[in-house]
Amino acid sequence: MTARTRADLDSLAGYVPGRSIPGAVRLASNEVPAGPLPSVIAAISVAAAGVNRYPDDQATALVDRLALRWDVPPTQLAVGCGSSMLCQQLVQATCGPADEVLFAWRSFELYPIITQVAGARLRTVPLRADHSHDLAAMLGAITPATRLVFVCNPNNPTGTVVRGEELVAFLDAVPDGVLVVLDEAYHEFVTDPAVGDGMALYRRRGRDRDNLAVLRTFSKAYGLAGLRVGYCAAPEPVAAALGKVSVPFSVNSLAQVAALASLDVEDELLARCRGVVAERARVRAELLALGYPVPDSQANFVWLPLGEQTATFTEHCLAHKIVIRPFPGDGARVTISDPSENDTFLAAAREWRCE
Ligand SMILES: *Cc1c(COP(=O)(O)O)cnc(C)c1O
Repeated sequence: MTARTRADLDSLAGYVPGRSIPGAVRLASNEVPAGPLPSVIAAISVAAAGVNRYPDDQATALVDRLALRWDVPPTQLAVGCGSSMLCQQLVQATCGPADEVLFAWRSFELYPIITQVAGARLRTVPLRADHSHDLAAMLGAITPATRLVFVCNPNNPTGTVVRGEELVAFLDAVPDGVLVVLDEAYHEFVTDPAVGDGMALYRRRGRDRDNLAVLRTFSKAYGLAGLRVGYCAAPEPVAAALGKVSVPFSVNSLAQVAALASLDVEDELLARCRGVVAERARVRAELLALGYPVPDSQANFVWLPLGEQTATFTEHCLAHKIVIRPFPGDGARVTISDPSENDTFLAAAREWRCE
């Protein structure tokens, strides 16, 4: 007899990471193009000498630093092995088998996967025609079984945003017992002042209704995707439950020191993000001029809703050694990189239009 795995996993496709092709331009994973700053590399190198020891399971120094940074009590902060794992922990911490997780679709590909893996049920609400969240419809889709709602802001992969006022109205209207998780993986690239800051919103709301959790990551703006560290601000009982469902030592010691060192040079890292934002405007303007439909993006990528042409466009880019992220039949997500890589992509996009 062969070993048996869960039958419900047979239908699960699994997460598809961006393809890694030697020498290709990587625009599939929303990484920042520049490597870590020298001080961050130095901190990692020093910590490397101590990796015979287990890391601090509580990541005390990092949690305390984040508590100061955001003026949130350490008991309301949890760090995780990337905010991806915190997404999974949030579902595990809130949902049993009959419970539901609600999110917009299309959104982050990981949400349906972790929901199914946790054995919870998923319910999705289509994005509006402009590719943004339909919070009114999401509110209507909440059932007595709903325990968690993901709101990805800006939304991966469309780059669209939920504005602060809409979000507050949504949070006020959500029934008791439902946790709203604001996934702000791309917050540092937002320039629209109407969007607001989830961490500031979190601080304000704690006083009246604590149904909000906010996710941030060091993978995108802070350039530490390879080290896997993110964090979550959540009401104390939720933060405590996140600790219970985590695998011990999942945030490694190099990640902890690199995150601290990155906070020391935050201004410089955020200045680099402004360069990406400038490129975002340039790339979008050129794509629009070429006739591509491109919704306004507040993240470090753009969304090309190419529908049935998505696969051929992706193949065309691959033929030019450019890896983008296709969602076949729907659209392609293209990371904004440095000017030279963006030019390489724009040249391929121009050629495809002329074919
Ligand atoms: C990239 C991303 C994350 C987190 O990535 P980690 O590397 O796991 O921290 C979370 N949510 C969204 C929507 C993302 O795109």
